[in-house]
Amino acid sequence: MLNEAHENFHRAADLLGMDDRTRDRMLTPNRVVKVELITDADDGGILHHEGFRVHHDSSRGPMKGGLRYHPSVDEAHATALAELMTWKTAVVDVPFGGAKGGVNCDPRTLSERELEAITRALVDGLGTMIGPDTDIPAPDMNTDARVMAWIVDQYERHNGYAPGVVTGKPVELGGSLGRSTATGDGLVHILAEALASRRQSFADTRVAIQGFGSVGRAAATALVRRGAKVVAVSDVDGCVAHPGGLDIAALRAHTGEARTVVGFRRGEPLPRDEVLTVDADVLVPAAVEDVITGENADEIRASLIVEGANGPTTPAADRALAERGVTVIPDILANAGGVTVSYLEWVQNAQRMRWGASRVAAELESTMRTAWNAVAQTAGRVDTDLRTAAFVLALERVAAAARLRGLER
Ligand code: NAD
Repeated sequence: MLNEAHENFHRAADLLGMDDRTRDRMLTPNRVVKVELITDADDGGILHHEGFRVHHDSSRGPMKGGLRYHPSVDEAHATALAELMTWKTAVVDVPFGGAKGGVNCDPRTLSERELEAITRALVDGLGTMIGPDTDIPAPDMNTDARVMAWIVDQYERHNGYAPGVVTGKPVELGGSLGRSTATGDGLVHILAEALASRRQSFADTRVAIQGFGSVGRAAATALVRRGAKVVAVSDVDGCVAHPGGLDIAALRAHTGEARTVVGFRRGEPLPRDEVLTVDADVLVPAAVEDVITGENADEIRASLIVEGANGPTTPAADRALAERGVTVIPDILANAGGVTVSYLEWVQNAQRMRWGASRVAAELESTMRTAWNAVAQTAGRVDTDLRTAAFVLALERVAAAARLRGLER
């Protein structure tokens, strides 16, 4: 994934005529930390995991990025995702830099007590690496508001009241209204702009969504609210489809109990990965990376792909899709609603204030719309696709901030 992130970076840097020294400085993370996490297992044994946190760039503000709990977490992976955060915060123009991290554990094999112990050990191991004005973690794959609550508690034991140390907290502990659905809601605001530019209405739009976790579920709900038809939804276990549009409220109720979309009666079961190739106008990959590849790109029937996940499309797929005229709205724009409302949460924490849901929603919509316009304008200015344009915009903003700091960049 690191190589792919760099391919996008270099394409934008070429367009900007950026020299090698500047590229090297922009790609090198500020610091990378690995912490050994030794905790007690429920069965009396010992658990040993590795935690990672990568600080990529702080030119535009304190560093910001998710914490992922997954067996695939390692230094290279966290570094690639930290870089993406630097570009993403720049695209939506929130005053943050980029970070990312996680623990190489499989939460499905751990009890709640074990997960809490691992999380508290991670906070102690990271020490001053995180803090409201240095690096502010947030939820990512397999981490949620409950994990963020443990982090706040452990951090505050050592540092006193500091709710701004993480975002995506429970509202009771200083979280923001609207944060849990922000990424899906923001994605649908971006899709609204893209459809408007094609003079297409939501009512005429059929969408397939890969992943029914926090991003996929919120996107599906917002899409149906706007009148679109969600014709297929998948998760790790399988796929359900309905050409006339799935009843998303009923599907949410089903997954609330069954923990999977599989077995949903008001839809037709399909093999899991067929969600990518069903007959739809829009495809929203909102699960894992590298799912749209050089091998399957030609089978995708949607004419618009909106990236809810980070890094779902490989560069080979990007090239194949471009040849066929399929538009891809890149992750660093399409899924930036989460970090946008994280910023609003952090602002509320700094102000010691709580905003109402409508204020948060209005700020999110206006930030996403402004970002769409900036990326679309950049694509016209440098005559390129939306992904490269988003990288060009981000690189310009990060490089400008670094230059103004006099960092010899
Ligand atoms: P999640 O853990 O809540 O949900 C992930 C979903 O993907 C689940 O439904 C899971 O079953 C499904 N899934 C996993 N592997 C799959 C596969 N091979 N095929 C089909 N479905 C599969 O995670 P999330 O928070 O919704 O994040 C999803 C993606 O969005 C990740 O790439 C994440 O980095 C990115 N993202 C999340 C946020 C956020 O605010 N949560 C913000 C920006 C980007």
